[in-house]
Amino acid sequence: MASLLVDKKKKHNFSAGPAILPASVLKEAAQAVENFNGIGLSILEMSHRSADYVAVVEEAVQLTKELLGLDDNYEVLFLTGGASSQFFMAAMNFLNEDETACYVDTGAWSTKAIKEAKLFGNVNVLASSKDSNFSNVPKNYTVPADAKYLHLTSNNTIFGTQQHWWPETDVPFVCDMSSDIFSRPIDVKRFGMIYAGAQKNLGPAGTTLVIIRKDMLGKVARTIPTMLDYNTHIKKGSMFNTPPAYPIYVCMLTMRWLKAQGGVAAMAKHNEKKAALIYNEIDANPLFNGAAAKEDRSLMNVTFTMPNDDLVAPFLDLCTEAGCVGVKGHRSVGGFRASIYNAMPMESVQMLVGLMQDFAKKNG
Ligand SMILES: *Cc1c(COP(=O)(O)O)cnc(C)c1O
Repeated sequence: MASLLVDKKKKHNFSAGPAILPASVLKEAAQAVENFNGIGLSILEMSHRSADYVAVVEEAVQLTKELLGLDDNYEVLFLTGGASSQFFMAAMNFLNEDETACYVDTGAWSTKAIKEAKLFGNVNVLASSKDSNFSNVPKNYTVPADAKYLHLTSNNTIFGTQQHWWPETDVPFVCDMSSDIFSRPIDVKRFGMIYAGAQKNLGPAGTTLVIIRKDMLGKVARTIPTMLDYNTHIKKGSMFNTPPAYPIYVCMLTMRWLKAQGGVAAMAKHNEKKAALIYNEIDANPLFNGAAAKEDRSLMNVTFTMPNDDLVAPFLDLCTEAGCVGVKGHRSVGGFRASIYNAMPMESVQMLVGLMQDFAKKNG
């Protein structure tokens, strides 16, 4: 009986994605499955063209603009196909065959983006940290002025590195922000496009937030299939076909929550405090090592290893016992990864840090 009760207790969710969402959002989202807005229908069974649902998409777009400070030069879309579809859609919509786009290779996701872009034009990989297993973000490169765009991955979910500075260039950024969207303020003018799979820091799996500056569009000669053309979705306000109605709704709720927390600036302060707590412990605790270069450490995905491999499994057992789930590192880094996205409360980070301290006392 006792173990049943323990299992039912809410876990400390350090999963990299799909990932933790605010408790209040989950509650409201659950309610909407039974009865949306008190109208006597589940949100899962209503027309996406109904006034009640159209209002959801409009609010999601409006909140995105508000939270990021986007002006009318930007279009906001909620698409399907994951961030992975944006790897090819971006190149397909922005890059002519005889033109060159620049990419910085900072991890597994950027490597995939590079592969897809090569199908549509010239790809110039300006820098890569592959030789050091992507433990840092390359900095010494210049962006050719005639590049169509510069593709960056703002946060490398697997390796635990993050872009904490932005290259000096007038070339617009096309940026994969899947794992740190809305985690901090950005100088949005520099971005020609931003995309983010919702399931890391925004909502459930099933939709991808795509933000496009209008001047990026209408410049390619190729014929683009209707569903893969950004203009199709812009013209129809993400409603060309049936949108992922429920995921968009939960994203909207999360953005309402974000706004109530004080927006991305307040969120950044909270994220900095959470990350400092765990990185300070990693640096002080002799049993753990940070996996990423200090200056490039991610505030979202904290990767760390152990000098003594024999202690990895016992520490994971301790985490499991304490209800800390999702702490096992990605196979390409090993060790541990604690994903501490916007919705992760300070108490859960304190819990994990407490376990690291206890473990060191017993095994140090
Ligand atoms: C998870 C992730 C992706 C892939 O997202 P999908 O929605 O599964 O296609 C791409 N980029 C980054 C940075 C990610 O973290």
